[in-house]
Amino acid sequence: MSEIHICEVGPRDGLQNAKHLMPTQAKKAWIGALAAAGLREIEVGSFVPPKLIPAMADTAEIVSFAKTLPGLKVVALAPNLKGFQRALEAGAHKVTFPVSASRLHSESNVRMTPEQMVEEVRKCAQHPHPGVELEGAVSTAFGCTLQGPVPEDDVVRIAARLAELCDCVALADTVGYANPAQVRRIFRRVKSEIGEKLEGAHFHDTRGLGLANALAAYEEGVRHFDSSMGGLGGCPFAPGASGNVVTEDLVFMFEAMGLDTGIDLEALFKARALLSSAIPEEPIYGHIPLAGLPKGFSRHV
Ligand SMILES: [Zn+2]
Repeated sequence: MSEIHICEVGPRDGLQNAKHLMPTQAKKAWIGALAAAGLREIEVGSFVPPKLIPAMADTAEIVSFAKTLPGLKVVALAPNLKGFQRALEAGAHKVTFPVSASRLHSESNVRMTPEQMVEEVRKCAQHPHPGVELEGAVSTAFGCTLQGPVPEDDVVRIAARLAELCDCVALADTVGYANPAQVRRIFRRVKSEIGEKLEGAHFHDTRGLGLANALAAYEEGVRHFDSSMGGLGGCPFAPGASGNVVTEDLVFMFEAMGLDTGIDLEALFKARALLSSAIPEEPIYGHIPLAGLPKGFSRHV
């Protein structure tokens, strides 16, 4: 069992925000390479209306494919009961429900208040889902491009409601506003409210603090992190900025600290080559893939 558990969200968070569509066959090859590099959990897509997000139209097919990869936990995102039913039909092992702590973000994104979104998650939780893990993700937990600051009390309250309905809860810095002091403070507050149900941290590197925030969360006891290969997806509001924290850099940081991620960096670079050949015009990021591994580097010694 790895000490650090990384969920690759590039096929969902990355491709959903990318300008270029990745063909279904290329997605399968990329996901296969990610699993071969040692990733044990991959968020492969989102069950949203295909008309809204064409990049996610093949999610059911991608879930069925990903389920053939041995030992892989296949995660899908669902914004409502309809999406959840599609995720169950497709056979996802785990479903993530995003609930925005920012009222403005929630109303403009899903046309529901955060409270109405929590009720939608309740409907899903009450729907039979044998063996399927539910995750409630508090999005815009560290700030919002529409609303600006998000009150910490709102984050704690929504996390507490989600903890009653879901198997685990994650806090997400959807727009890359978080800083390490804030990460420590909010993770500590939420943990004192919901204990071990607080599991995941989802950071974006929009303002260059993705790794610093991940380290701050680690020091608060977090062991589950989302990241995306190459920081894929960028940020629609910040041209030139990467999307999620870069998987390659996150793996390097933890392995260099002597912590086991279960992931092989050389194999990860091969998966990155597949990604960039599938959508060559899409910008991807990351320090380690460009600079290379330090001389004499070895995994978690
Ligand atoms: Zn995200």
